[in-house]
Amino acid sequence: MPYRPQITNVTKAGNNEKDGLYEFIINLADGTDCRVFYNRYPEWKLTNVSRLGKTPCPVCRKDFICRCMEKFSSDFDEQMKEGEWLSKAAAE
Ligand SMILES: [Zn+2]
Repeated sequence: MPYRPQITNVTKAGNNEKDGLYEFIINLADGTDCRVFYNRYPEWKLTNVSRLGKTPCPVCRKDFICRCMEKFSSDFDEQMKEGEWLSKAAAE
């Protein structure tokens, strides 16, 4: 079965209001944690996504840095917006 990330929680890790840059930590249903960066101007745009190295990658099984999650950036972005994670986490 092809991998598809499923967001279960999002927390804001940092932001620079002036530049509209936001960093979020995303928890996925399979136990994977990811870090994403967004730029909110002129509209929310996902600029980077990477897996945090606490658990092996669910795609390639490596337990060090890999770039697999980049392939799912549109899935992350879609869920962040549809699940209103973005607006909720940004308001924290
Ligand atoms: Zn990987």
